[in-house]
Amino acid sequence: MFGTKAQEKQYAQDWAQKTGNEVHMTTAELNDDTVDQVKGFDGVITQQTTSLGSPKVYEKLASFGIKQIGTRTAGYDMIDLDSAKANGLTITRVSIYSPRAIAEMGVTQAMYLLRRIGEFNQRMNEENDFSWSPSMASNEIYNLTVGLVGVGHIGGATAQIYKALGAKVLGYDVAYDPEMEPFLTYADLDTVLEKSDIVSLHTPLLKSTANIINADALKKMKKTAYLINVARGGLVDTQALISALKNHEIAGAGLDTLADETTFFAKKVDAADVPEDYKELAAMPNVVVTPHVAFFTSTSVRNMVQIALNDTATIVNGGHSRNALIY
Ligand code: NAD
Repeated sequence: MFGTKAQEKQYAQDWAQKTGNEVHMTTAELNDDTVDQVKGFDGVITQQTTSLGSPKVYEKLASFGIKQIGTRTAGYDMIDLDSAKANGLTITRVSIYSPRAIAEMGVTQAMYLLRRIGEFNQRMNEENDFSWSPSMASNEIYNLTVGLVGVGHIGGATAQIYKALGAKVLGYDVAYDPEMEPFLTYADLDTVLEKSDIVSLHTPLLKSTANIINADALKKMKKTAYLINVARGGLVDTQALISALKNHEIAGAGLDTLADETTFFAKKVDAADVPEDYKELAAMPNVVVTPHVAFFTSTSVRNMVQIALNDTATIVNGGHSRNALIY
Protein backbone atom coordinates (compact mmCIF):
# COMPACT_ATOMS: atom_id res chain seq x y z
CA MET A 1 0.00 0.00 0.00
CA PHE A 2 1.97 2.94 -1.38
CA GLY A 3 1.38 6.59 -0.49
CA THR A 4 -0.08 5.65 2.91
CA LYS A 5 -1.45 8.62 4.87
CA ALA A 6 -1.64 8.56 8.67
CA GLN A 7 -5.44 8.59 8.60
CA GLU A 8 -5.54 5.47 6.37
CA LYS A 9 -3.53 3.07 8.53
CA GLN A 10 -6.25 1.94 10.91
CA TYR A 11 -8.67 1.19 8.08
CA ALA A 12 -6.06 -0.93 6.29
CA GLN A 13 -5.28 -2.80 9.52
CA ASP A 14 -9.01 -3.38 10.17
CA TRP A 15 -9.44 -4.75 6.63
CA ALA A 16 -6.43 -7.04 7.01
CA GLN A 17 -7.78 -8.41 10.27
CA LYS A 18 -11.30 -8.96 8.89
CA THR A 19 -10.19 -10.63 5.67
CA GLY A 20 -7.12 -12.52 6.90
CA ASN A 21 -4.82 -10.74 4.44
CA GLU A 22 -1.56 -8.98 5.15
CA VAL A 23 -1.13 -5.29 4.22
CA HIS A 24 2.32 -3.74 4.13
CA MET A 25 2.17 0.07 4.21
CA THR A 26 4.67 2.67 3.07
CA THR A 27 4.45 6.43 2.78
CA ALA A 28 6.55 6.23 -0.41
CA GLU A 29 4.79 6.68 -3.73
CA LEU A 30 4.98 4.04 -6.44
CA ASN A 31 7.50 4.99 -9.14
CA ASP A 32 10.74 3.89 -10.81
CA ASP A 33 12.67 4.31 -7.55
CA THR A 34 10.30 2.27 -5.37
CA VAL A 35 8.80 -0.38 -7.67
CA ASP A 36 11.33 -3.03 -6.60
CA GLN A 37 9.70 -3.01 -3.14
CA VAL A 38 6.69 -4.78 -4.70
CA LYS A 39 8.68 -8.00 -5.34
CA GLY A 40 7.23 -10.82 -3.26
CA PHE A 41 3.80 -9.21 -2.78
CA ASP A 42 0.56 -10.31 -4.49
CA GLY A 43 -1.09 -6.96 -5.18
CA VAL A 44 -0.44 -3.23 -5.12
CA ILE A 45 -2.50 -0.13 -4.32
CA THR A 46 -1.50 3.50 -4.34
CA GLN A 47 -2.79 7.00 -3.66
CA GLN A 48 -0.85 9.73 -5.43
CA THR A 49 -1.34 12.56 -7.88
CA THR A 50 2.15 12.22 -9.39
CA SER A 51 2.90 9.82 -12.25
CA LEU A 52 3.61 6.18 -11.45
CA GLY A 53 6.71 6.56 -13.58
CA SER A 54 8.14 5.13 -16.77
CA PRO A 55 6.86 2.05 -18.67
CA LYS A 56 9.53 0.09 -16.76
CA VAL A 57 7.38 0.31 -13.61
CA TYR A 58 4.60 -1.62 -15.35
CA GLU A 59 7.03 -4.12 -16.90
CA LYS A 60 8.59 -4.80 -13.52
CA LEU A 61 5.23 -5.23 -11.80
CA ALA A 62 4.23 -7.82 -14.41
CA SER A 63 7.57 -9.58 -14.02
CA PHE A 64 6.91 -9.82 -10.24
CA GLY A 65 3.62 -11.62 -11.03
CA ILE A 66 1.43 -8.60 -10.19
CA LYS A 67 -1.95 -8.63 -11.97
CA GLN A 68 -3.35 -5.25 -10.98
CA ILE A 69 -2.81 -1.71 -9.68
CA GLY A 70 -5.52 -0.23 -7.49
CA THR A 71 -5.70 3.51 -6.98
CA ARG A 72 -7.50 4.66 -3.86
CA THR A 73 -8.81 7.67 -5.78
CA ALA A 74 -11.51 8.36 -8.33
CA GLY A 75 -9.05 9.92 -10.79
CA TYR A 76 -6.54 7.71 -12.61
CA ASP A 77 -4.63 10.22 -14.73
CA MET A 78 -1.39 9.33 -12.91
CA ILE A 79 -1.51 5.84 -14.47
CA ASP A 80 -0.14 5.17 -17.96
CA LEU A 81 -2.97 3.02 -19.28
CA ASP A 82 -1.06 1.97 -22.43
CA SER A 83 1.79 0.56 -20.34
CA ALA A 84 -0.67 -1.06 -17.93
CA LYS A 85 -2.49 -2.72 -20.83
CA ALA A 86 0.72 -3.84 -22.52
CA ASN A 87 1.65 -5.63 -19.29
CA GLY A 88 -1.76 -7.17 -18.64
CA LEU A 89 -2.43 -5.10 -15.49
CA THR A 90 -6.01 -4.48 -14.41
CA ILE A 91 -6.55 -0.97 -13.04
CA THR A 92 -9.15 -0.37 -10.35
CA ARG A 93 -10.18 2.95 -8.86
CA VAL A 94 -12.63 4.04 -6.18
CA SER A 95 -15.03 6.16 -8.17
CA ILE A 96 -17.73 6.41 -5.52
CA TYR A 97 -16.47 6.55 -1.95
CA SER A 98 -18.97 8.89 -0.32
CA PRO A 99 -20.94 11.37 -2.44
CA ARG A 100 -22.57 12.60 0.77
CA ALA A 101 -19.21 13.84 2.08
CA ILE A 102 -18.77 16.27 -0.81
CA ALA A 103 -22.46 17.17 -0.93
CA GLU A 104 -22.48 18.03 2.78
CA MET A 105 -19.44 20.31 2.41
CA GLY A 106 -21.17 22.22 -0.38
CA VAL A 107 -24.29 22.64 1.74
CA THR A 108 -22.19 23.63 4.77
CA GLN A 109 -20.42 26.36 2.81
CA ALA A 110 -23.74 27.60 1.43
CA MET A 111 -25.29 27.80 4.92
CA TYR A 112 -22.20 29.60 6.29
CA LEU A 113 -22.50 32.18 3.54
CA LEU A 114 -26.27 32.53 3.73
CA ARG A 115 -26.10 33.28 7.45
CA ARG A 116 -23.26 35.80 6.81
CA ILE A 117 -21.03 34.14 9.41
CA GLY A 118 -17.78 35.34 7.80
CA GLU A 119 -19.10 38.87 7.61
CA PHE A 120 -20.28 38.91 11.24
CA ASN A 121 -16.93 37.43 12.31
CA GLN A 122 -14.96 40.09 10.49
CA ARG A 123 -17.01 42.90 12.06
CA MET A 124 -16.70 41.39 15.53
CA ASN A 125 -13.03 40.44 15.35
CA GLU A 126 -11.62 43.40 13.45
CA GLU A 127 -13.99 46.25 14.31
CA ASN A 128 -15.46 45.28 17.72
CA ASP A 129 -18.76 45.75 15.94
CA PHE A 130 -21.41 43.43 17.38
CA SER A 131 -24.35 45.34 15.91
CA TRP A 132 -26.92 43.97 13.51
CA SER A 133 -27.07 46.11 10.44
CA PRO A 134 -30.40 45.70 8.60
CA SER A 135 -28.61 44.74 5.39
CA MET A 136 -27.20 41.66 7.10
CA ALA A 137 -30.50 39.89 7.67
CA SER A 138 -30.20 36.34 6.35
CA ASN A 139 -32.42 34.17 4.21
CA GLU A 140 -33.88 30.86 5.27
CA ILE A 141 -33.12 27.95 3.02
CA TYR A 142 -36.71 26.81 2.48
CA ASN A 143 -37.49 30.15 0.82
CA LEU A 144 -34.69 29.74 -1.69
CA THR A 145 -34.00 28.15 -5.05
CA VAL A 146 -30.85 26.07 -5.38
CA GLY A 147 -29.44 25.37 -8.83
CA LEU A 148 -27.14 22.41 -9.46
CA VAL A 149 -24.79 22.25 -12.43
CA GLY A 150 -24.19 18.51 -12.80
CA VAL A 151 -26.58 16.01 -11.26
CA GLY A 152 -24.48 12.84 -10.94
CA HIS A 153 -23.60 11.07 -7.71
CA ILE A 154 -22.57 14.20 -5.80
CA GLY A 155 -25.05 16.58 -7.45
CA GLY A 156 -27.77 14.00 -6.78
CA ALA A 157 -26.83 13.70 -3.10
CA THR A 158 -26.78 17.51 -2.89
CA ALA A 159 -30.26 17.71 -4.44
CA GLN A 160 -31.60 15.30 -1.83
CA ILE A 161 -30.19 17.34 1.07
CA TYR A 162 -31.53 20.66 -0.23
CA LYS A 163 -34.91 19.08 -0.98
CA ALA A 164 -35.05 17.74 2.57
CA LEU A 165 -34.30 21.27 3.85
CA GLY A 166 -37.30 22.55 1.91
CA ALA A 167 -35.52 24.44 -0.88
CA LYS A 168 -36.71 24.45 -4.47
CA VAL A 169 -34.03 22.61 -6.48
CA LEU A 170 -33.21 23.10 -10.17
CA GLY A 171 -30.71 20.89 -11.97
CA TYR A 172 -28.78 21.23 -15.21
CA ASP A 173 -27.06 18.17 -16.67
CA VAL A 174 -26.28 16.88 -20.14
CA ALA A 175 -27.75 13.54 -19.03
CA TYR A 176 -31.27 12.98 -17.70
CA ASP A 177 -31.74 10.76 -14.66
CA PRO A 178 -35.39 9.89 -13.95
CA GLU A 179 -34.45 8.90 -10.39
CA MET A 180 -33.73 12.57 -9.67
CA GLU A 181 -37.29 13.67 -10.51
CA PRO A 182 -38.52 13.52 -6.89
CA PHE A 183 -35.77 15.90 -5.81
CA LEU A 184 -35.41 18.54 -8.53
CA THR A 185 -36.71 20.12 -11.69
CA TYR A 186 -34.41 19.85 -14.70
CA ALA A 187 -33.67 23.16 -16.42
CA ASP A 188 -31.19 24.61 -18.91
CA LEU A 189 -27.99 26.24 -17.70
CA ASP A 190 -29.20 29.82 -18.18
CA THR A 191 -32.35 29.15 -16.17
CA VAL A 192 -30.29 27.59 -13.38
CA LEU A 193 -27.96 30.62 -13.32
CA GLU A 194 -30.74 33.20 -13.52
CA LYS A 195 -33.23 31.71 -11.05
CA SER A 196 -31.01 30.28 -8.33
CA ASP A 197 -30.09 31.82 -4.98
CA ILE A 198 -27.34 29.21 -4.63
CA VAL A 199 -25.53 27.84 -7.71
CA SER A 200 -23.65 24.65 -6.79
CA LEU A 201 -21.21 23.00 -9.23
CA HIS A 202 -20.94 19.20 -9.52
CA THR A 203 -19.62 18.32 -12.98
CA PRO A 204 -16.24 16.80 -13.77
CA LEU A 205 -13.63 19.09 -15.34
CA LEU A 206 -13.97 18.46 -19.09
CA LYS A 207 -13.46 20.56 -22.21
CA SER A 208 -17.21 21.18 -22.10
CA THR A 209 -17.17 22.34 -18.47
CA ALA A 210 -13.85 24.25 -18.22
CA ASN A 211 -14.67 27.83 -17.15
CA ILE A 212 -18.39 27.02 -17.37
CA ILE A 213 -18.66 29.79 -14.77
CA ASN A 214 -17.03 32.66 -16.66
CA ALA A 215 -17.75 36.40 -16.63
CA ASP A 216 -20.92 35.93 -18.73
CA ALA A 217 -22.28 33.19 -16.48
CA LEU A 218 -21.56 35.27 -13.36
CA LYS A 219 -23.47 38.21 -14.89
CA LYS A 220 -26.49 35.95 -15.38
CA MET A 221 -26.58 35.08 -11.68
CA LYS A 222 -28.64 37.10 -9.19
CA LYS A 223 -26.73 39.81 -7.32
CA THR A 224 -27.91 38.11 -4.14
CA ALA A 225 -26.78 34.62 -5.20
CA TYR A 226 -23.90 32.51 -3.89
CA LEU A 227 -21.64 30.30 -5.99
CA ILE A 228 -20.46 27.00 -4.51
CA ASN A 229 -17.66 25.02 -6.16
CA VAL A 230 -16.82 21.70 -4.50
CA ALA A 231 -16.06 20.02 -7.84
CA ARG A 232 -12.96 21.24 -9.73
CA GLY A 233 -11.28 24.66 -9.71
CA GLY A 234 -11.11 24.75 -13.50
CA LEU A 235 -14.91 25.02 -13.73
CA VAL A 236 -14.62 28.65 -12.62
CA ASP A 237 -12.66 31.51 -14.21
CA THR A 238 -11.01 32.70 -10.98
CA GLN A 239 -10.23 36.22 -12.20
CA ALA A 240 -13.80 36.65 -13.45
CA LEU A 241 -15.06 35.47 -10.06
CA ILE A 242 -12.84 37.92 -8.18
CA SER A 243 -14.13 40.76 -10.40
CA ALA A 244 -17.74 39.68 -9.92
CA LEU A 245 -17.26 39.63 -6.14
CA LYS A 246 -15.55 43.03 -6.11
CA ASN A 247 -18.30 44.51 -8.32
CA HIS A 248 -21.05 42.95 -6.16
CA GLU A 249 -22.37 41.01 -9.16
CA ILE A 250 -22.92 38.03 -6.85
CA ALA A 251 -23.22 37.89 -3.04
CA GLY A 252 -20.38 35.50 -2.26
CA ALA A 253 -18.67 32.20 -2.98
CA GLY A 254 -17.80 28.92 -1.29
CA LEU A 255 -14.80 27.20 -2.86
CA ASP A 256 -13.26 23.85 -1.99
CA THR A 257 -11.27 23.81 -5.21
CA LEU A 258 -9.25 26.40 -7.11
CA ALA A 259 -7.80 26.26 -10.63
CA ASP A 260 -4.19 26.63 -9.38
CA GLU A 261 -4.58 24.59 -6.19
CA THR A 262 -1.98 21.86 -6.88
CA THR A 263 0.88 24.23 -6.00
CA PHE A 264 -0.32 24.75 -2.44
CA PHE A 265 -3.39 22.73 -1.38
CA ALA A 266 -2.66 19.62 0.72
CA LYS A 267 0.75 21.09 1.67
CA LYS A 268 2.29 23.49 4.17
CA VAL A 269 3.96 26.17 2.08
CA ASP A 270 6.04 29.32 2.61
CA ALA A 271 4.06 32.56 2.69
CA ALA A 272 5.69 33.58 -0.60
CA ASP A 273 4.22 30.51 -2.29
CA VAL A 274 0.61 31.33 -1.46
CA PRO A 275 -0.94 32.54 -4.74
CA GLU A 276 -2.30 36.09 -4.98
CA ASP A 277 -5.72 35.02 -6.24
CA TYR A 278 -6.19 32.81 -3.18
CA LYS A 279 -5.15 35.68 -0.88
CA GLU A 280 -7.64 38.00 -2.55
CA LEU A 281 -10.45 35.51 -2.21
CA ALA A 282 -9.62 34.48 1.34
CA ALA A 283 -9.58 38.11 2.48
CA MET A 284 -13.22 38.58 1.47
CA PRO A 285 -15.65 37.92 4.35
CA ASN A 286 -18.32 36.76 1.89
CA VAL A 287 -16.01 34.03 0.56
CA VAL A 288 -15.15 30.76 2.25
CA VAL A 289 -12.27 28.65 0.95
CA THR A 290 -11.36 25.14 2.08
CA PRO A 291 -8.29 23.23 0.78
CA HIS A 292 -9.97 20.46 -1.26
CA VAL A 293 -11.26 18.65 1.80
CA ALA A 294 -14.89 18.15 0.81
CA PHE A 295 -14.18 14.43 0.41
CA PHE A 296 -12.22 14.26 3.67
CA THR A 297 -14.45 12.39 6.10
CA SER A 298 -13.77 9.19 8.00
CA THR A 299 -16.30 7.38 5.82
CA SER A 300 -14.56 8.48 2.62
CA VAL A 301 -11.09 7.52 3.84
CA ARG A 302 -12.31 4.12 5.04
CA ASN A 303 -14.10 3.46 1.76
CA MET A 304 -11.13 4.55 -0.37
CA VAL A 305 -8.79 2.19 1.50
CA GLN A 306 -11.08 -0.78 1.96
CA ILE A 307 -12.70 -0.73 -1.49
CA ALA A 308 -9.22 -0.57 -3.14
CA LEU A 309 -7.99 -3.45 -0.95
CA ASN A 310 -11.10 -5.54 -1.64
CA ASP A 311 -10.69 -5.03 -5.39
CA THR A 312 -7.06 -6.08 -5.11
CA ALA A 313 -7.96 -9.29 -3.29
CA THR A 314 -10.71 -10.01 -5.82
CA ILE A 315 -8.42 -9.64 -8.82
CA VAL A 316 -5.48 -11.44 -7.23
CA ASN A 317 -7.86 -14.35 -6.60
CA GLY A 318 -8.97 -14.41 -10.24
CA GLY A 319 -12.24 -12.53 -9.83
CA HIS A 320 -13.65 -9.46 -11.56
CA SER A 321 -14.16 -6.09 -9.91
CA ARG A 322 -16.85 -3.68 -11.06
CA ASN A 323 -14.34 -0.93 -10.24
CA ALA A 324 -11.94 -2.18 -12.93
CA LEU A 325 -11.40 0.26 -15.78
CA ILE A 326 -12.42 -0.96 -19.21
CA TYR A 327 -9.64 0.26 -21.48
P1 NAD B 1 -20.61 11.85 -11.69
O1 NAD B 1 -19.93 11.35 -12.90
O2 NAD B 1 -21.49 10.93 -10.92
O3 NAD B 1 -21.51 13.14 -12.09
C1 NAD B 1 -21.08 14.14 -12.95
C2 NAD B 1 -22.30 14.67 -13.69
O4 NAD B 1 -21.87 15.77 -14.50
C3 NAD B 1 -22.94 13.63 -14.61
O5 NAD B 1 -24.31 13.52 -14.31
C4 NAD B 1 -22.69 14.19 -16.00
O6 NAD B 1 -23.72 13.89 -16.93
C5 NAD B 1 -22.62 15.68 -15.71
N1 NAD B 1 -21.95 16.42 -16.78
C6 NAD B 1 -20.87 16.06 -17.51
N2 NAD B 1 -20.59 17.01 -18.41
C7 NAD B 1 -21.49 18.00 -18.25
C8 NAD B 1 -21.72 19.25 -18.88
N3 NAD B 1 -20.94 19.68 -19.88
N4 NAD B 1 -22.76 20.00 -18.44
C9 NAD B 1 -23.56 19.57 -17.43
N5 NAD B 1 -23.39 18.39 -16.81
C10 NAD B 1 -22.38 17.62 -17.21
O7 NAD B 1 -19.48 12.47 -10.78
P2 NAD B 1 -19.58 12.76 -9.22
O8 NAD B 1 -19.14 11.57 -8.46
O9 NAD B 1 -20.91 13.38 -8.91
O10 NAD B 1 -18.43 13.86 -9.07
C11 NAD B 1 -18.54 15.13 -9.69
C12 NAD B 1 -17.22 15.86 -9.58
O11 NAD B 1 -16.97 16.22 -8.23
C13 NAD B 1 -15.99 14.99 -9.93
O12 NAD B 1 -15.79 14.92 -11.32
C14 NAD B 1 -14.89 15.72 -9.23
O13 NAD B 1 -14.35 16.70 -10.11
C15 NAD B 1 -15.58 16.41 -8.07
N6 NAD B 1 -15.14 15.87 -6.77
C16 NAD B 1 -14.68 16.74 -5.83
C17 NAD B 1 -14.26 16.25 -4.60
C18 NAD B 1 -13.77 17.18 -3.51
O14 NAD B 1 -13.24 16.70 -2.50
N7 NAD B 1 -13.93 18.47 -3.62
C19 NAD B 1 -14.29 14.88 -4.35
C20 NAD B 1 -14.78 14.02 -5.34
C21 NAD B 1 -15.21 14.52 -6.54
